[in-house]
Amino acid sequence: MNESIKRNILLNPGPSTTTDTVKMAQVVPDICPREKEFAALMKDLRRDLVKIVHGDQEKYTSVLFCGSGTINIDVCLNSLLPENKKILIVNNGAYSQRAVEICCYYGLPHIDLQFPADQLPDLQLVEKTLAENRDIALVHTTHNETGTGILNPIREIGELAHRYQAVFTVDTTSTLAMRPIDMEAENIDFCMASAQKGLMAMTGLSFIIGNRAIIERSRLYPRRSYYCNLYLQYDCFEKTGEMHFTPPVQTIYATLQALKEYFAEGETEKWNRHTRVFNAIHEGLEELGFRDLIRREWQAGLVVSVLYPEDENWDFEKIHDYCYERGFTIYPGKVARANTFRLCALGAIDEQDIRDFFVVLREALQKYQVAIPIKYAGRAE
Ligand SMILES: *Cc1c(COP(=O)(O)O)cnc(C)c1O
Repeated sequence: MNESIKRNILLNPGPSTTTDTVKMAQVVPDICPREKEFAALMKDLRRDLVKIVHGDQEKYTSVLFCGSGTINIDVCLNSLLPENKKILIVNNGAYSQRAVEICCYYGLPHIDLQFPADQLPDLQLVEKTLAENRDIALVHTTHNETGTGILNPIREIGELAHRYQAVFTVDTTSTLAMRPIDMEAENIDFCMASAQKGLMAMTGLSFIIGNRAIIERSRLYPRRSYYCNLYLQYDCFEKTGEMHFTPPVQTIYATLQALKEYFAEGETEKWNRHTRVFNAIHEGLEELGFRDLIRREWQAGLVVSVLYPEDENWDFEKIHDYCYERGFTIYPGKVARANTFRLCALGAIDEQDIRDFFVVLREALQKYQVAIPIKYAGRAE
């Protein structure tokens, strides 16, 4: 039935390469999502999501939304801020910057604590900011800053947030279901992701996993959005087992299949596979002489930000198109101060796919006469 689906290797930061079984799981008899049968599926789905981050099923719950991953950041920030309080964003990259923009759009009082994109946040400065601003009720940051691939010290930031009685929300969109996460141990009150990233399912379903008591408390907080309110959606799930409005039906079937495959592969095995892929990416890059933006020991193990060659023949678009036509997708960077492209280790791929990719990348470089080893003229290192 499915031998005709071409297998593309997506090295972009999501959506990811999926298995054929996940693709085919979307082909189901038509069903109205208000049927009890469908509500039962969502109940399992919500429970499994909490299980992935090792959350206690009483203490934590998950709330689903129809939308891309950004909807989660929007929902958490606009729903979890009490009146007359402030948000602190620990910001060292594009995805934390997105959280800052969300605060600006809603007019939420916030502090944008900025650090360079290739550096870890200074925890002493985080603590000082919390100590000097006792009205901070929510601290937000990004786990793996997908724009660069840097891994932020969330356990430490979460500990500081809690020391100052703030709720800690973490954008784990590019780690969840890949890099093992234990919510409680990492001091996370709310984490989030969407189905097309670590879970290797389809686009259109996003979810927040968080502390039930905090969600219940937020019932009395200012309501700043109708469609994107966390309590409203939670309350609807608790009372009816359904999403407030139409869920992404076929994506939910694909996600259930993806969860089955996640638990069958196993947390450790899956993380080992992503690590093999990540190491193969580094090996291939080193062989060609490419350089990274982020220090290797700070990388989350899922995204490599590669510096553009300083070679007049380098043209990212041309290299991209050459690889794309042969089934490999590479992705531009997201850093203001440096020209980079990204290679990511998510999805249903393994190290052989990366070796195959580097054969094609080498051909592309040769075709367009980009020097190998890659030139970084004028760099002091
Ligand atoms: C992918 C991603 C998102 C969501 O992006 P969308 O384009 O809305 O899917 C959010 N945060 C991080 C860290 C991500 O990697």
